[in-house]
Amino acid sequence: MRIILLGPPGSGKGTQAQLMVQRYGIVQLSTGEMLRAAVAAGTPVGLKAKEIMASGGLVPDDVVVGIISDRIDQPDARNGFILDGFPRTVPQAEALDELLKQKHLKLDAVIELRVNESALLSRVETRVAQMRERGEEIRADDTPEVLTKRLASYRNQTEPLIHYYSERRKLSTIDGMMAIDEVTGAIHRQLVALGATEPKARAKSTSKSAARAAPAKKGAAKAKTTKKSAKTAKKPAKSAKEAAKKAVKGTKKAARKTAKKVAKKAGKKAPKKSVKKGAKKAAKKVTKKRAKR
Ligand code: AMP
Repeated sequence: MRIILLGPPGSGKGTQAQLMVQRYGIVQLSTGEMLRAAVAAGTPVGLKAKEIMASGGLVPDDVVVGIISDRIDQPDARNGFILDGFPRTVPQAEALDELLKQKHLKLDAVIELRVNESALLSRVETRVAQMRERGEEIRADDTPEVLTKRLASYRNQTEPLIHYYSERRKLSTIDGMMAIDEVTGAIHRQLVALGATEPKARAKSTSKSAARAAPAKKGAAKAKTTKKSAKTAKKPAKSAKEAAKKAVKGTKKAARKTAKKVAKKAGKKAPKKSVKKGAKKAAKKVTKKRAKR
């Protein structure tokens, strides 16, 4: 499932994207997050983007298109992704169409979160106050002045995408002024209508193991598969949820390897479906075992 979340700053795209990550097992690709990471790391892209972002402007199209193209190629995006904050201009949308075509991928839906502009300012003020309370660093572009500029750039450069995707029959508009869980429900209904399903094995194993597991550490759900985590993959899992994820990954890999070997011996290609089924069965077993411990 490949989805675009469209909406002005403060419309709740980030919040909804994170909820969708947990529900559908797909990744959130936020160009804003990636750019902030590049700024923090002082990479050439970060140096280019820093001032533009702080003033509420848009980073050049070629920079963000390049970032997204590379990110879509990562293995964790294979299951699907939610684009949050991209595309933001018609040329970016055209570039996305082109690169999805090259990669033989299909865009399933564009979800627009429609909000009342006057409410956005107070939403951002609340977010800043909450972050301050938690002692978190405040974004340089989370000020009323910069927000006004970001809203103007949304109106002028991003809103035309509503027409762009509506013409292509991809657009679903949802009232973003509803409570968070109501918005989540409305998005879910749209996605179900499009044929989206929650991955069964994942939903079962995570809910069972999560019920048994000790409360996860704050932020654990946000943990991404990085090189670092790959290195520490042999360490004991912190929660049943993590164990389940690792089990699925490990067993799938092992099953594929075995199937390849068998197929090689038989002089045939490994049957894809049975490999998947086998991996799922094996994963369930391991998940159950680990959750029991
Ligand atoms: P966001 O976190 O999505 O609000 O993005 C923060 C800032 O990053 C924006 O105000 C822009 O300066 C920059 N940015 C993020 N995504 C894009 C994009 N697709 N095109 C251009 N600039 C972007």
